[in-house]
Amino acid sequence: MSVELGQRQEGGKPMKELHLNAYAKVNLSLDVGPERSDGYHEIESVMHTISLHDSITLREAGSGTEVVVNDGANVPTDHRNLVARTAEMLREMFTVTRPVQIELTKRIPVAAGLGGGSSDAAVTLLGLVQMWKLRLDGRELLALATKLGADVPFFLEGGGAVARGKGERLTYLPPLPTTWIVLARPRVEVSTAWAYRQLPSGGVSPRPNTASMIEAVKQEDVREVGRLMHNVFEDVVAQTHPLIKDLKTRILRGESYGASMSGTGPAVFGLMANEAAARKVADDLRADPNVEVHVTRTFAENR
Ligand code: ATP
Repeated sequence: MSVELGQRQEGGKPMKELHLNAYAKVNLSLDVGPERSDGYHEIESVMHTISLHDSITLREAGSGTEVVVNDGANVPTDHRNLVARTAEMLREMFTVTRPVQIELTKRIPVAAGLGGGSSDAAVTLLGLVQMWKLRLDGRELLALATKLGADVPFFLEGGGAVARGKGERLTYLPPLPTTWIVLARPRVEVSTAWAYRQLPSGGVSPRPNTASMIEAVKQEDVREVGRLMHNVFEDVVAQTHPLIKDLKTRILRGESYGASMSGTGPAVFGLMANEAAARKVADDLRADPNVEVHVTRTFAENR
């Protein structure tokens, strides 16, 4: 996340404001093991943040915790919003009474497999810890992030990482060299719970070669990363939403290293040879009114 601290004058009183960016992620590979006794599945996923981001402003204003969502994005502003839950959790733990207004400008497509809500939560957590001057070490921060959601810990740092367990066991990888990405979000709804139910009970096949993917990322071999990309949810989700495979085929017709669905979908992305290749495919995909298209790139902050 990036933090910019400003002091704005409001009615003669200095007002603290934090401006933050919350970046989306893509899953370069995503593998799922059998269901555990607690109902969760073990996952193993190589993830990377991308430059597409939401913007968040935290300011001391209003009363209690107030969430404002700009541009009519279809996300709740009450306790169902992960940023509100983040603030409330910290409030309870540290008996914070100061008000906070959380202004959210959504650019990351919602419920698309790009981790938008989790990234917003991670960044809000880091921002409020700073704004409210809370004393938390790295381990405590990680525990709080895990409480908010399985994908939240990854976004505390972002960049490249392998996530295991529920998603909270992280091994960071060197970030990939900047690589252009075309991202296509079919306008269909896919819930994560539904996607898990579509997995065959006897286990999934084929599965990604995670060890080779990790090696390719370490070698900064983007071509190999593209070749190895595989998500076990892609085939099962595409059975109900065939547009996913159609989009992937159209991306692969361009100058691409590989393409895959991200998370539990329905967003599909391609690693492209260069910016021109990404824009060319994007123009082709935009012809379909049922698809939202972004040109973006791999991105890592602070590392
Ligand atoms: P993941 O890949 O982590 O499952 P996702 O990218 O598929 O996440 P999100 O964009 O995080 O999905 O949204 C999932 C649900 O969470 C939506 O139904 C939305 O209403 C709710 N939600 C709560 N807080 C937020 C937020 N800050 N931004 C977006 N969605 C949010």
